[in-house]
Amino acid sequence: MEVILAEYLGFCYGVKRAIKIARENASDEQGGACTLGPIIHNPQMVERLKEEGVGTVDALEEMERGTIIIRSHGVGPQIYEAAEQKGLRLVDATCPHVRKAQLSSKALADEGYKVVIIGEKKHPEVQSIFEWSAHTASIVESVEEAEALEPCAKLGIVSQTTFSGARFKEIVLRLLDKSREVKIDRTICTATDQRQAAAMDLASKVDLMLVIGGKNSANTTRLAQLCAERCRTYHIETAAELQDQWFDKIEKIGITAGASTPDWIIKEVYKQCQKK
Ligand code: SF4
Repeated sequence: MEVILAEYLGFCYGVKRAIKIARENASDEQGGACTLGPIIHNPQMVERLKEEGVGTVDALEEMERGTIIIRSHGVGPQIYEAAEQKGLRLVDATCPHVRKAQLSSKALADEGYKVVIIGEKKHPEVQSIFEWSAHTASIVESVEEAEALEPCAKLGIVSQTTFSGARFKEIVLRLLDKSREVKIDRTICTATDQRQAAAMDLASKVDLMLVIGGKNSANTTRLAQLCAERCRTYHIETAAELQDQWFDKIEKIGITAGASTPDWIIKEVYKQCQKK
């Protein structure tokens, strides 16, 4: 059986950077350094960081002192102010690409554009981009929602960094009719495009795709959806989920992984597949 890894897979630049920053700020004191929300959508990595002295809190209220680390998804401006008021040391690991989307959202709102964020409403990164628009943006994740938007004088569009390039284009086409002045900042990062293109390419050449990553990871789930349109696909978090019957009569297996999937988990799945 042949096992092929996608050309681009696993940790992206922003996630690697955030984990490095978190590690550099680890603390021996319990609760001394915490990320606001899980550092990445991967429970195994979150657990490993906890052992290394970086915990997780869900809200600033849970911290009395110490270091609060902002993860790659970023946060709204009110968190920076609240951390300062509480006297917490804030370490910002917001991915620079996310930062760009946040600043674009702010600039468009300041310039009087009706801001539209193309992305998933519940995703923390989208929430942070929304907060930088002074809570004025509309969040659109489907063509139907784009069509339902009211026309306006000036429309400014930004994107969730991990949004599918193809869907972004489809939605933008519907939004072009909503205003005479439309400004588009395509803030999709290349890591997402590369991983999606490589996954689709591989999925069309193999009998089975394994997509590795947290079940709560939006970009991993999207990779799994794209692969499932091309061949039989399983979304797994670790090698422990592999089942022997999946590999019956399979000659070629493809492996990809979301931007928040650690290398050691990818290697373990790869090794296990080679034994099948
Ligand atoms: S997917 Fe792109 S924008 Fe998101 S953290 Fe990674 S590098 Fe940054």
